[in-house]
Amino acid sequence: MTPTVYVHIPFCETKCPYCDFNSFAVQGRDVDGYLAALSEELDRRPPPPDPPTLFIGGGTPTVPRPEQIDRYLGDLLRRLRPDPAREFTVEANPGSLTAEKVAVLAAHGVNRVSLGAQSFLDRHLKTLGRVHSAAQIEEAFRLVRDGGIDNVNLDLIFAVPGLDLRDWLYTLDCAVALQPEHLSCYALIFEPGTEFHARRQRGLMHALDEEDELRMFRFTERRLRHAGWQRYEISAFARPGKHCRHNLGYWRNEPYAGYGAGAFSYLDGERCGNERHLERYARAVHERGDAFVSHERLEGSRAAAETIFLGLRTRYGVRLDSVGERHGIDAQREFAPVVTRLREQGLLRRGEPLRMTRRGWRVADTVSSAFL
Ligand code: SF4
Repeated sequence: MTPTVYVHIPFCETKCPYCDFNSFAVQGRDVDGYLAALSEELDRRPPPPDPPTLFIGGGTPTVPRPEQIDRYLGDLLRRLRPDPAREFTVEANPGSLTAEKVAVLAAHGVNRVSLGAQSFLDRHLKTLGRVHSAAQIEEAFRLVRDGGIDNVNLDLIFAVPGLDLRDWLYTLDCAVALQPEHLSCYALIFEPGTEFHARRQRGLMHALDEEDELRMFRFTERRLRHAGWQRYEISAFARPGKHCRHNLGYWRNEPYAGYGAGAFSYLDGERCGNERHLERYARAVHERGDAFVSHERLEGSRAAAETIFLGLRTRYGVRLDSVGERHGIDAQREFAPVVTRLREQGLLRRGEPLRMTRRGWRVADTVSSAFL
């Protein structure tokens, strides 16, 4: 199976206090130096020429200047065969996206933009430390549409401290009014290592009540289903035919080739992680031709468990016989005790394919760890 391709651009305008991605405020960073290292990595570890999908994530890939965006997209595409039909996504943020940058994306065949909207209420954007306003989300959305890119995702965050159900439904309604093709709705997580996590440890910030969070989760599906979006993964909602093919590849545990600082690759049954630190990444690529700092071979039951819990995140679920065939084990026998237990707990449905119940989706981490 041909791997999909992911490229990581780690620069943002500022670092959001809840974010644990490998991303850095761009001020004072050597963007050109990073892009040169990225280009060298693509040279020395060439991507497959015909990847089914391309995804440029970050960070905020549209924070660099237009000529820098033009350079890294050109560097990537020079190594691939042209295919305008393939899904080609770039992440962007309101505030820093301009008509000129959208034109650069479109000129390189980008056909999907994922916008970090997060909330349509300015006071929640402020709580989240975002540097854009609600009005700028709509401006960015129009820029993308006017630039001829007709497949747009909006990322939204719920369970933000100070956000009640009415606020969240307001944000959902504003998003629906824009009619994007795709919506990703995430609950805020206090990830260790983030400023939010530290504030919570010091008692300066409190997570939303679990019941309130579950209510928002439930209402999200109801509201979006009525408006014509189908939930096809825990956090992902699509209009008919507008599922994110790239992310579906991850959830099917299919291979991917990742480039850039902190990017992961999953190739020939091995998961490898790149160095996260920007200068060390550039040095490693220059000295060795790759920047891998971790290697993990996934085979047999371990690989099967991953395929199962990733597949369970989606509404399609997984077939244990196909999982077993793919990973060379008797998955039905091996996972029978855990499947029985999760069914008794009401977290998995009966029958095949194996699928989570709504309750299971809400505690997906518990289900995952049961398989691992
Ligand atoms: S813009 Fe996105 S990637 Fe950048 S710091 Fe904020 S949440 Fe993280």
